[in-house]
Amino acid sequence: MPLSDIRIILVRPTHDGNIGACARAMKTMGLSALWLVAPQTRVGEPAYAMAAHADDLLHQAVTVPDLETALADCRYVVGTSARPRRIEWPALDPREAARQLVERGCDGPVALLFGQERTGLTNEELDRCQAVVSIPANPDYPSLNLAAAVQILAYEIRQSALEGEKHDEEGGDARTHSTREDMQRFYEHLERVMIETRFLDPAKPRFLMRRLTRLFNRAQPDENELNILRGILTSVERLRRP
Ligand code: SAH
Repeated sequence: MPLSDIRIILVRPTHDGNIGACARAMKTMGLSALWLVAPQTRVGEPAYAMAAHADDLLHQAVTVPDLETALADCRYVVGTSARPRRIEWPALDPREAARQLVERGCDGPVALLFGQERTGLTNEELDRCQAVVSIPANPDYPSLNLAAAVQILAYEIRQSALEGEKHDEEGGDARTHSTREDMQRFYEHLERVMIETRFLDPAKPRFLMRRLTRLFNRAQPDENELNILRGILTSVERLRRP
């Protein structure tokens, strides 16, 4: 089952017991790649107590200082939110999110991001995501415990992977999705060219880059498409500097 390339990333978690419970939730569903971005707590005794026999996941957990590092080689990133339909991002239900992660996880690393216990993911963190998934819950009390949210999504991922195994021979998507690093380089190139052509005034950016980031994240260009876009930008640069 292609579950080892599905990263569960906890962003700035504050309770080590929760980190252990997340490891346990993951292992019960066959997931193993736990990443911690700037954890606000040490992974100590309470984490190991809550992890029970999933302590191997805690030992292997990758700790990084920022989200960018955790996502650099990821081809697809889904964020989670207790608040459904945060307009700017395509919304997925847990089943569809799991299907996408399993399908794209066959190409290389993909990620599912979980926010801090109290505050959740910031808008800047959600900007790194191609889609956002909400677990449909009681609208008057939709916020699950972090590890409970991990458990539900990990379950859906497992079901999706099992289903995928059943009709494996269908071939699937032949496109190679772009990595976050390639996308980031494209955004930087785009911004440079737009400043050079004066389409973008760095003194008055008016959320232009943010809007364009959302547009291209939604479109999910593959490697070929991204090369075409970069080629167009280079052709503009050549015109400006013959
Ligand atoms: N007030 C915060 C709640 C954070 S709960 C917010 O509105 O986002 C901590 C984390 O658990 C969230 O960042 C998310 O990763 C996960 N989570 C909790 N409830 C969820 C739900 N209903 N759907 C999806 N993820 C949820």
